[in-house]
Amino acid sequence: MPTINENFLKLEKNYLFINIAKKVNAFLKENPDAKLIRMGIGDVTLPIAPVCVEAMKKGAEEMGVKETFKGYEDSGTGYDFLKQAIADYYQRYGVTLSLDEIRVNDGAKSDCGNIVDIFGDDNIVMVTDPAYPVYVDSNKMNGRTIIYADSNEENGFAAMPDFSVHADLIYLCSPNNPTGSVYTKEQLKVWVDYAKQNQAIIIYDAAYEAFITQPDIPHSIFEVEGAKTCAIEMCSLSKTAGFTGMRCGYTVIPNELTVTASDGTTVSISQLWGRRQGSKFNGVSYPVQCAAAAVFTEEGRKQIQKNIAYYQENAAIISRTMDELGIKYTGGINSPYIWFQCPNQMSSWEFFDEMLHKIAVVGTPGEGFGKNGDGWFRLTAFGDRDLTIEAMERFKNMLKK
Ligand code: PLP
Repeated sequence: MPTINENFLKLEKNYLFINIAKKVNAFLKENPDAKLIRMGIGDVTLPIAPVCVEAMKKGAEEMGVKETFKGYEDSGTGYDFLKQAIADYYQRYGVTLSLDEIRVNDGAKSDCGNIVDIFGDDNIVMVTDPAYPVYVDSNKMNGRTIIYADSNEENGFAAMPDFSVHADLIYLCSPNNPTGSVYTKEQLKVWVDYAKQNQAIIIYDAAYEAFITQPDIPHSIFEVEGAKTCAIEMCSLSKTAGFTGMRCGYTVIPNELTVTASDGTTVSISQLWGRRQGSKFNGVSYPVQCAAAAVFTEEGRKQIQKNIAYYQENAAIISRTMDELGIKYTGGINSPYIWFQCPNQMSSWEFFDEMLHKIAVVGTPGEGFGKNGDGWFRLTAFGDRDLTIEAMERFKNMLKK
C-alpha cells in the first residue's frame, strides 16, 4: 500500500471558494427566485479581444497545414515571438530582459505553486497575511515552516519586513489580491534590501500589474535596482487580457539569480527551474501563444485597455459606494479588488451571510485569505456593469436601514 504525503491532510479541509459555493447553493435552494449577484470569485467576464481571437484562429489554421504544423515546442519555454513581445513590454518600464530569462506558462498559478519544487523543505517561507492562498498551500504541501508578515489597517494592507526576523523565501503580490493595495518603488526597495540581507529570494506575483493607474507605482519588481539578484517574477494574461479560460502567463527568472548549494557550488535558479520544467512541463499550445502575442501589439493593447477600463469603472462605482457610506477600504485604484471593513464590527463570514441572505450579493470573506482578513471583505470589479450598479444600490439600502 502506498503511503501518502500526509502534509495534504494538514491543509484546510475546504478551499475558500468551495465553502462559498456550498453556502450559495444552499441559499439558492431555499430562494430559487433570488436575483443573485456574484462579486466573489476573481474571474473576468468580458470576452477576449478580437485581435487575440484572430491570432488564435490563424495559429490553429497553421496547425492544420503540413508546412506550418507545429509539434512540441523545442524549448518548452515559449516561442521567441511571444518572449520578444514580453521583453519589449518590460522595456516600457525600463526593465531589460533577455529572452532566456522569460518562460511562458499556462498561467501564474502553476508556477506560483510549482516553483517550490526547486527549494529545500527546510526553507523558512514568509507570506503576507492576508494572501492569495496558493502561496501558503503549496508550501504546506511540502511541510515547510511558514511565517507571516502582517498586512493590516495600520500599514494600508501593504506588509513591510521586520529585519529582526529571518526568511529564505518571500511571497509578495502587488497589486495585491485580496487587498488591492500596491507597493511603491521605495517600499519594494526595502523588501529587496531585506531579501539581500537574508540571502533570500522574493517570489513576486504581478498578475494584476495591468490594473495600475498611478504612474509612479512599479509594474515589475525589476524596476527596483538590485532586484535581479534576489527575485523571481510571475505574471499572467488572465486578468490583463481575459485569459482565465485561455491559460497563458509567464515567469521571469533573471540570469543573475543564484544560490549556493550545500557543497558550496553556485547554482543558477533559472537552470534549476529549467531542469524541473524540462521534466514536468511541455509548454503552452501554439494557438494560445499566438493569441498571447497579439495582446502586446499596438491594437491588442488598445483592445485590452478597453476591457480593463470597464472593470476600472466598476471598481470606481464600488469605491464611491464605500466613500458614501463612510466605510474604510483599500484597492480599487490600481486593482480590480475592493477590500473593505465589515460594518458593525461583524466577522467576515457573518457579513458574508448577511449580504447573501439580505441582498443576494456574493462576496469573499477576508478571513479566507488569512487571519488579518477577519473583519474585512473583498468585492471584485470583474462583473457586469449593470449588476455592479444594482449590487451597490442593494448594498446601500441594506446598510442605510
Ligand atoms: N496570482 C494571483 C494573485 C491571482 O489572484 C491569480 C488568480 O486569481 C493568479 C496568480 C493565477 O492566475 P492564472 O493561473 O489564471 O494566471
